[in-house]
Parts: sequence; C-alpha cells; structure tokens
Amino acid sequence: MTTIGVLALQGAVREHIRSIHACGANAVEIKRKEQLEEIDGLILPGGESTTIRRLMDSYGIFTAIQDFADKGKPIFGTCAGLIIMAKSIVGQAEGHLGLIDMTVARNAFGRQVASFEAELDVAGIAEDFRAVFIRAPYVVEVGKNVEVLATYDEHIVAVRQGPFMATAFHPELTDDHRFISYFIDLTATTKS
Ligand code: GLN
Repeated sequence: MTTIGVLALQGAVREHIRSIHACGANAVEIKRKEQLEEIDGLILPGGESTTIRRLMDSYGIFTAIQDFADKGKPIFGTCAGLIIMAKSIVGQAEGHLGLIDMTVARNAFGRQVASFEAELDVAGIAEDFRAVFIRAPYVVEVGKNVEVLATYDEHIVAVRQGPFMATAFHPELTDDHRFISYFIDLTATTKS
C-alpha cells in the first residue's frame, strides 16, 4: 500500500490525514527526519510558511526533505506548502525548497478577500473542483517545464513539475478527495 507523510510541524495536518485515509492510503504525521524513510510521498500542508520554515530548520528536517526530493520522491505543497516549494517568492531574497520553477506572491488576493471558495476546472483532475482559499498565495510566473493545472481569475493556482505538485488552495478541507487521490496515484506510479 502507498504511504503518504504529512509534515506535522504546524498547520492543517489532521485534515490531510483524514483525506488520505478516505482515499484508502496509509497516512503518517512526520515530525522527525528519520520518518521520511517510511513514506513514499510527502505533503507540505497549509499554515504559515515562515513559521513552517523556521520549524523545519529547528527540527533538522529541511535538508532531509531536500534529499527526499533529490531521490525524485513526490511532494505536494498546499497553500503555505506551495510557497515553501517555490523557487522564488516576491519581495524575499531567497526561496525555501525551490523545487518548482515558479515565482509566487504571498497573501496575493489581498486582505479584503482573506478567504473564499471558487469552482475550478483542473486539468486532468476535475472540471468542477470546489477550492477553498485561505489568505492564499498565487503563482506569478512559471518556467517552461511547469504544467499549469488550474487558474482562478487569470492567476495560476495549481501546478505540477514532474513529481512535485502545488496548489494555492486547500484541497483537504472538503469531502472531494480527487486532488489528494491524484497525488496518491502519482506517488504509487513513482514507487513502482
Ligand atoms: N498566508 C500564508 C503564508 O504566507 C499561507 C496561508 C495558508 O497556508 N492558508 O504562509
């Protein structure tokens, strides 16, 4: 069976675990770098990207995740997780993991629209995906190897580059598990 880890330092962890279970895969909360050896794919949840990054460093897991990525193991970042996966972040000197060739803007939809829902047409996944955005980022620019999976209001909100995926919204907050299921399938294929 495929085992998916959810980085459990801060943020929407439980909801991802519930969603992975609903898809019939194993789910593990990841707090220590040694646990990365037990999993086939990793989810970086939403929360606060600067806090998650700080905790990744103090738990010594940041470089371990870079090694996990170097092996070509799948990683899926949602919201703050998308920010952590980006090569560059508007207004910041450096990115974090830099796994996806894209530039992202944090809290990009503005304060007036802190949280909202929208129906998205997601390439190869769903034509009518109800997406929940919470103080969400969006993708400003992508490199040529990045596949755009969905846009909202002309802004890129879901991408994939090989084994790495990211969404500006929270696919784990509804009972529509098609996004998580897509990631589990991608992980299962990579594994075999
Ligand atoms: N605004 C957060 C950040 O910049 C992301 C919000 C979220 O993950 N829901 O890190």
